[in-house]
Amino acid sequence: MSQDNATSSRPGAQAPRPSRAEAVAALRPRYQADLAQGTERFFEPRRTDCPWCGSPRLKRRLRTRDRFQNKPGGFRLDTCRDCRLVFQNPRLGADGLEFYYRDFYDGLGEEGMGNVFSGRRKMYLGRAEALKPSADSPAKWLDVGTGHGHFPEAARTVFPHTVFDGLDFTEGVELAEREGRIDHGIRGSFPELAGERLAGRYDVVSMFHYLEHSTDPRAELRAAHRALGPGGHLLIEVPDPECWFARLLGRFWLPWLQPQHLYFLPVAALRKELEALGFTVVLEQHREPSDTVDLLGAVWLGANAVLPPDDAPWLARPTGRARWLLRCAGLLVAIPPLVVATTVDRLLLKPLAGLGKVSNAYRLVARRNG
Ligand SMILES: [Zn+2]
Repeated sequence: MSQDNATSSRPGAQAPRPSRAEAVAALRPRYQADLAQGTERFFEPRRTDCPWCGSPRLKRRLRTRDRFQNKPGGFRLDTCRDCRLVFQNPRLGADGLEFYYRDFYDGLGEEGMGNVFSGRRKMYLGRAEALKPSADSPAKWLDVGTGHGHFPEAARTVFPHTVFDGLDFTEGVELAEREGRIDHGIRGSFPELAGERLAGRYDVVSMFHYLEHSTDPRAELRAAHRALGPGGHLLIEVPDPECWFARLLGRFWLPWLQPQHLYFLPVAALRKELEALGFTVVLEQHREPSDTVDLLGAVWLGANAVLPPDDAPWLARPTGRARWLLRCAGLLVAIPPLVVATTVDRLLLKPLAGLGKVSNAYRLVARRNG
């Protein structure tokens, strides 16, 4: 599932939505039953070697918790001293991923995340433009981790003659197809589908902020190789774990996005893997994909860490009015630092993106060899 898996509210006439308080109360029993057995059961055994290169030379990068939804549980990221991979260790298993994704992009979280992703058209256009020098008018494009199809919707204006398919785990792809944002919605696991149904069918495969969510990034890259015809292009964008802000801001660096992001590949390791699979990297970008909100994100996550949480079904009991008022007061106090942070992000840091390691993401375009 991609970070971009979100949309605005579903269209059409509907029964009035329950209030947030009602929705929280209805969801609380299931969350409390899940938590009664503790959060340790959500994790796989801790690894003592790197899941990418096998090296035993690991070091702890940071410990953190869920700073977005405030769900219980602790997470740790390790770095491999050899290939520089940063990864969640121990990693969440299937039940854990289900628990922590629940109500983030859908359900309780749908509306908020929809607002985050619906206003990003300019960024989506920039992603599409990155392919132009390599492929002027591809016939078929598969967007993997398409969420609700906001990227293909924007990309169509850059590539008006291209057929866009979207793939994701969630029912969002069906909505995206109904809304006409994509030509075909494909629901399921990319590595499973690429084996037969999708083999050799595409001229372009894109993965925007998708690989870091995958439990097996290597299988996703192999799947992309299978889904592309000879000469087809793979377009990848991921957070850059070598970004200076990652070090400077530590656990308050937004792109760590724990616990959803499982693997952070440094650009050298990803290039090496692509070349070993039979791709030629034709474009590497750092400045263009940088979404310079690092300071704003850090202040926001910092405020979230000290303020009483908003009521949520994973809290044992409702937060109560006094704590709600305290939270509101705290948010008011946080406004000036948030304004200063976003001003510095936009005016000082954004122009520097791409210099040295001042970029929180990178993008690669790779051509499948013939
Ligand atoms: Zn390694």
